[in-house]
Amino acid sequence: MATLAENPLAITTLPHLAPALADVRAAAIAEPGFGRVFTDHMVVIDYDEGTGWHNAVLGPRGPIPLDPAASVLHYAQEIFEGLKAYRLADGTMALFRPDQNARRFNESAKRLAMPEIPEDLFIEAVRQLVLADADWFPQVDGGSLYIRPFMFASEPFLGVRPARQYKFVVILSPAGNYFKSGAPAVSVWVSDYTRAAPGGTGAAKCGGNYAASLVPTGEAFQHGHDQVVFLDAAERKWIEELGGMNLFFVFDDGSLLTPPLTGTILPGITRDSLLTLAREEGLTVREERYSIDQWRDDSASGRLVETFACGTAAVVTPVGRVAGRAHDFTIGSGGPGQLTGKLKQRLVDIQRGTAADTHGWVMKL
Ligand code: PMP
Repeated sequence: MATLAENPLAITTLPHLAPALADVRAAAIAEPGFGRVFTDHMVVIDYDEGTGWHNAVLGPRGPIPLDPAASVLHYAQEIFEGLKAYRLADGTMALFRPDQNARRFNESAKRLAMPEIPEDLFIEAVRQLVLADADWFPQVDGGSLYIRPFMFASEPFLGVRPARQYKFVVILSPAGNYFKSGAPAVSVWVSDYTRAAPGGTGAAKCGGNYAASLVPTGEAFQHGHDQVVFLDAAERKWIEELGGMNLFFVFDDGSLLTPPLTGTILPGITRDSLLTLAREEGLTVREERYSIDQWRDDSASGRLVETFACGTAAVVTPVGRVAGRAHDFTIGSGGPGQLTGKLKQRLVDIQRGTAADTHGWVMKL
């Protein structure tokens, strides 16, 4: 068996000992929900301060033994990523810009004082796992395999310092189609809570950010809305992002605006892809701050015609209504807008292989 030092991409594959979950799999690929059912393999790679990354194994999915003193359980050194394997028109499976997920993962690692993982190893772990569990690919139109790579501090140590041992793990979950009937517009709630402060961890994909978003998101649900909008923590004025998606604003002159990456929002890969596609379409795109009051005023005057949220999960989702303690307004017709639909189609066509991949974004497996 080659060690990781000899061959950084050597991942040992263990035989699958558990009986195949044939009935679970049949149900999951016929009617995939989201995040409840998992495929039957996983990749685990260990990290030790002395050895570095080692012991890379693709094996049966199962519980991971964890010491009760493992630092992740006390000081939350944990980061993750989310990406999808798509089925292209020609039947092959493909990843969309996995290098960007690997890069962002390492940015998150740096912010959380965790070790970086070689990008090639991250991608190879994902690639091998998706191929191993290809028979879990949903049979529904537009389905995907949702890929969740994550890393946590496994060292048993009670002290606030970076851990010396970590585990990198990848798991998969069959995911359903978000595009069924053309996404309906969502209604969003402007939260009084904030998500990230200047100098904080807003740009990192760490579990703690999401734990802190549960109460604000619950409040949005309680008020009958689908998603939460966060404003900046310093002035409570500037629009940042939704709980798990970035925002774009479309104006009546056909131009676009999205909040800039100043360290308090997650640098979405969908956001970046749409910026590129919009600029190619000849659209004017500004990465500038936009205030909640301006959003309201521009919606009322008709200067703002569309707003959409974007991310890996729902790709592009129109925002139809905005409410909060001090706000309640409708955007455009309250339904999906024209430019929103067009940009979404451009992106989906590339992801699904029905349009030319001129940017080298699609990695066939
Ligand atoms: N913002 C947050 C807070 C998110 O969790 C996500 C999902 N990763 C996004 C934006 C969108 O990022 P991406 O387009 O890379 O999925």
